[in-house]
Amino acid sequence: MREIRHFVNAAAMAGTSGRQGDVFDPNTGAVQARVALASAVEVDIAVQAAAAAQRSWAAVNPQRRARVMFEFKRLVEARMADLADLLSAEHGKVLADSRGDIQRGLEVIEFACGIPHVLKGEYSEGAGPGIDVYSLRQPLGVAAGITPFNFPAMIPMWMFGVAIACGNTFVLKPSEKDPSVPVRLAELFMEAGAAIGLDVTGVLNVIHGDKAAVDAILDHPLIRAVSFVGSSDIAQYVYSRGTAAGKRVQAMGGAKNHGIVMPDADLDQAVRDITGAAFGSAGERCMALPVVVPVGKGTAEAFRERMLSEIATLKVGVSSDPDAQYGPVVTAAHRQRIADYIQMGVDEGAELVVDGRGFALQGFEQGHFIGPSLFDRVTPQMKSYQDEIFGPVLQIVRAETFEEAVALPSSHQYGNGVAIFTRNGRAAREFAARVEVGMVGINVPIPVPVAYHTFGGWKRSAFGDANQHGVEGVRFYTKIKTVTARWPDGDASAPSFVIPTMS
Ligand code: NAD
Repeated sequence: MREIRHFVNAAAMAGTSGRQGDVFDPNTGAVQARVALASAVEVDIAVQAAAAAQRSWAAVNPQRRARVMFEFKRLVEARMADLADLLSAEHGKVLADSRGDIQRGLEVIEFACGIPHVLKGEYSEGAGPGIDVYSLRQPLGVAAGITPFNFPAMIPMWMFGVAIACGNTFVLKPSEKDPSVPVRLAELFMEAGAAIGLDVTGVLNVIHGDKAAVDAILDHPLIRAVSFVGSSDIAQYVYSRGTAAGKRVQAMGGAKNHGIVMPDADLDQAVRDITGAAFGSAGERCMALPVVVPVGKGTAEAFRERMLSEIATLKVGVSSDPDAQYGPVVTAAHRQRIADYIQMGVDEGAELVVDGRGFALQGFEQGHFIGPSLFDRVTPQMKSYQDEIFGPVLQIVRAETFEEAVALPSSHQYGNGVAIFTRNGRAAREFAARVEVGMVGINVPIPVPVAYHTFGGWKRSAFGDANQHGVEGVRFYTKIKTVTARWPDGDASAPSFVIPTMS
């Protein structure tokens, strides 16, 4: 059986905790590898490696750090096909989607290639008599990232790309469900450093594990910042425990994104967009669109009819099938959880229009497949609406008015993304201004901001003050220092006993 080991100080490191986790092949349901699950001892080894490398890495000038990022991007692009194969084989998403996962991470690396420009400080000449004031952005030291299973390439790159470019060193704790791609990325980062003539040993380390490893990260005194992405209860726990230990923490959580369809929308386009956003990647995206809110009875009836025809054409297949629109979900336990939510929706009185539970793929009966499901007449009181299902299940919540459509996502516990489909610019503008959600799409079903903007939700979709990537990411991974400098002219001035007014 293949063993997936930690990656510390530029080398594979065998686990010593005695604990291992199963990594499944979602297409067949079989265990394909075992991953080491770290104890606090292994986490400490990785943190010490990162701490030992940090001073010299921070001393490398920013343009040379950027050159490592340029080379890393080139290497990842050159290995794109292999990385996508590896990603699909452990996650279950189709190959085109795996390439998208890697590509969206690479866009943050591209942003990191421009780090010398964003790290420039500010300078005020003559802020007082003979006094100049300047501010610097300095790295924090060792930073850690804890990432979810659903984007094993993109989310680690969101974090380590920016953190490392800023001069920090990094310990990544990826999801134990699909841990191989993060290790490959760290190996390629080592290659990138060597190609530029820099020893980057210890700059990026990968430790596998579960709660025990996460707790060891949260408690480790040398880790200054923790970036987390995962489900909300754990995000909140990571935020509380990490900040209590004096760390900077940004913790992104779950989501339940709504798509508002106004009566004037281009319905054919909206239906196609929502089909991809609801069922793509088997719904295992924090920016998926699992709730649709048609405004008005006519819109609801027309939407339902067209969505039924779209669903009938969907092809679910193994992750390597180029014709499949989505593949299996990550584990059998997750498939069961989705099926339980479908049953909950039925029990709560929603109308199950399409039931994906009976779906089986011939020859892959043990794979973690589930067909697309559609619910109509879902209401805000239902638990199956309030909770995140994270599967290929679309729920229609009918609204009578625009006001109701603004209120639904605004009063939901999650506030990650939302989309409105309309031809009315004024309605769209008002919706974007008023809705209580962090990322808004106008005729854009999955409004994931580009890498030079920032990513982050509101309410229980994010804990902490800083978003991921973009300039916000740079602020998160740096601390500001302000220097007030005076170069006296040699005439000793009298002692001052009052606050200077800098006149
Ligand atoms: P998860 O919360 O189960 O796991 C996330 C990370 O936390 C993993 O590294 C895991 O090992 C660790 N972990 C698991 N249980 C833990 C515990 N009890 N204590 C401490 N750490 C623990 O999430 P997942 O299932 O891997 O990913 C799916 C979730 O992530 C969904 O809720 C999805 O919405 C969310 N997500 C959010 C965003 C965002 O940016 N808001 C992006 C992607 C995914």
